[in-house]
Amino acid sequence: MMARQHRLFPELPRGPRKKRMRVVDAGNFPDGRKMIEFKCPHCGYRTGQIYDEHTVTENKRGLPCPVCNPIGRQP
Ligand SMILES: [Zn+2]
Repeated sequence: MMARQHRLFPELPRGPRKKRMRVVDAGNFPDGRKMIEFKCPHCGYRTGQIYDEHTVTENKRGLPCPVCNPIGRQP
C-alpha cells in the first residue's frame, strides 16, 4: 500500500455566500478557441457564449453572477 500524500488544501473562510452561475453549455468557437456559457440558477442571467478563459476547476465551481453579486458592492 502506498502512503497517502499529505494534501494541503487551506480551508477558505466562508464569507457571505456568493451566488454562482452554472455551466450550461461548452464547446468551441469556429476559430477553435474554447467556448462556454454560464447561467445563474438564482436570477436566470445567462452570460451567452463567451470565450472560456478559466480553469476547469473554476468552471466547475462556477463564476459569481454579476447580477446577484454586483461588483463594487462587496462588504
Ligand atoms: Zn444571478
